[in-house]
Amino acid sequence: MFTASELLDINQLLIPENKIVIITHYNPDGDAIGSSLGLKHYLKAKGLDAEVVVPNDFPKFLKWMPEAKKITIADYKRKKAWEIIDAADVIFILDFNASHRAGNLVGPWIERAEGVKILIDHHQQPENFDFVYSDTTIPATSQMVCHFIDAMDDRELVNKDISECLYTGIMTDTGGFRFRSTSAATHHIIADLIEKGADPAMISASTWDTNTVSRLHLLSLILSRIEIVKDGKVAILYLKRDELKEFGFEKGDTEGFVNYGLSVLGTRMSAFFMEDLYEDFIKISFRSKDDVDVNQFSRKYFNGGGHINAAGGKYFKNIYETIEDFKEKIKEENF
Ligand code: 5GP
Ligand code: MN
Repeated sequence: MFTASELLDINQLLIPENKIVIITHYNPDGDAIGSSLGLKHYLKAKGLDAEVVVPNDFPKFLKWMPEAKKITIADYKRKKAWEIIDAADVIFILDFNASHRAGNLVGPWIERAEGVKILIDHHQQPENFDFVYSDTTIPATSQMVCHFIDAMDDRELVNKDISECLYTGIMTDTGGFRFRSTSAATHHIIADLIEKGADPAMISASTWDTNTVSRLHLLSLILSRIEIVKDGKVAILYLKRDELKEFGFEKGDTEGFVNYGLSVLGTRMSAFFMEDLYEDFIKISFRSKDDVDVNQFSRKYFNGGGHINAAGGKYFKNIYETIEDFKEKIKEENF
């Protein structure tokens, strides 16, 4: 958590005269959108207006969240997005650790912007912003926003909108309260959020029971050719661009696919390779169990990073070469 004196400084910045923007990472996920909107609604409950700006569009299944439709998407509204960031006195940086994770457009804007930068994030190796609350043991940035609200002594301000957004962020980043860093503190917070108005059945149905038939077809395709290597310990999944096109791929359609690899008994790591729809690179998602560190693995070989058990990366060969290189690299890994 921020120190007591940092909290005082932050409190003095949170006044109606100051313009506030909340920015999250490229390809925003449930925790990115949940923590950003949760913080926005908290600031609103304090009588402050904040804008949320995201680098690019986010999946439809997150658009039910209160005021999700008011988010400024920089990809679509460049001028407006830049003006908001440029004019901001206070810039909250949520759910990412370094400017470049906001992409080629918004990343440099963050560096150029002059507002006071406040980071709240649970990824490794945070950049040094003006105020940094970084904790890699917490499963979701949305949980950190709850801790921040508590530290500001504002728990009584938590309302239904705040609760719904933060609940969604915690639910999605913990894979439905299953992943390793899910703690008693997580469940205490979840209990509080339910008391303050978050409805678990509504939220999980709105977020997860939203499959399209095309998504299920994509899923059945990748499952039909799942490959298990390294003595049963590693699962490999992939999708090619022409397949994405054939099934009418929409943003978010492949969310969670990588987890199916880990559901195979005995696997310790799953890797999902996907050709980018427009550019010539392979986007990779890694997931792992226990002490298999995919953050280190991805940093070392696949130009990426993330968390110990969930990371992503990029690779600049074709998909078959990428998978072959991956198979070579995991031979060298000791797990
Ligand atoms: P996902 O597989 O869901 O895209 O990403 C899993 C985790 O790894 C997320 O926390 C995400 O922020 C992080 N991540 C994904 N791609 C990259 C990347 O290219 N670089 C870094 N540093 N982190 C990534
Ligand atoms: Mn997160």
